[in-house]
Amino acid sequence: MGKQGVLLVVSAPSGCGKDTLLAEAFRQEPRLTRSVSATTRAPREGEVNGRDYIFMTERDFKLLIELNGLVEYTNYVGSFYGTPKAELGNLLAAKDGVVLKIETEGAARVKAMFPESVSVFIMPPSEAELERRLRSRGTDTEEKIKQRLAVAKSEMALAENYDRVVVNDDLDTAVNEFLAIFREYSS
Ligand code: 5GP
Repeated sequence: MGKQGVLLVVSAPSGCGKDTLLAEAFRQEPRLTRSVSATTRAPREGEVNGRDYIFMTERDFKLLIELNGLVEYTNYVGSFYGTPKAELGNLLAAKDGVVLKIETEGAARVKAMFPESVSVFIMPPSEAELERRLRSRGTDTEEKIKQRLAVAKSEMALAENYDRVVVNDDLDTAVNEFLAIFREYSS
């Protein structure tokens, strides 16, 4: 078998700024890439099919499950999300580091399947800041915001199960910490 990249399993409550943090990490470290998940949720403004997610109908997603095409999948706040198997295998063979951005249950399943992977939890600086960020996005209904907040709080309680925790208070500091973790495992 050829070399395999480091698998970084990253979870963060939605709204804690992980997308910005990871986008900056990818910009600074070309050896790092991410696996694009499939989802049945509607695209947010600015999201591009194939780049941010593979957006699918529920029917197609269920077909993918039946074809055993996903490493893992979950239903999160009413939508399906899953990691395509083929894509992950190809990326691990080709790149030094592959990031999976997935929620906590999926992360636990991936960690069990790939014990050599490194799990990283991105923590918001505080619950109040998390709520502010979730609201400022302005894309979700009040009900969805409440659901996401409740899920986020229960997710934050699971941070201790991860190999590493990065607090996303100052962006540059958080990016540096994240890249240091990757470099530690990839060298
Ligand atoms: P969002 O709707 O905010 O983009 O994502 C909601 C949650 O689903 C986030 O915690 C995100 O990390 C998670 N998620 C995205 N893709 C996957 C996936 O392939 N598998 C699992 N288990 N969770 C995912």
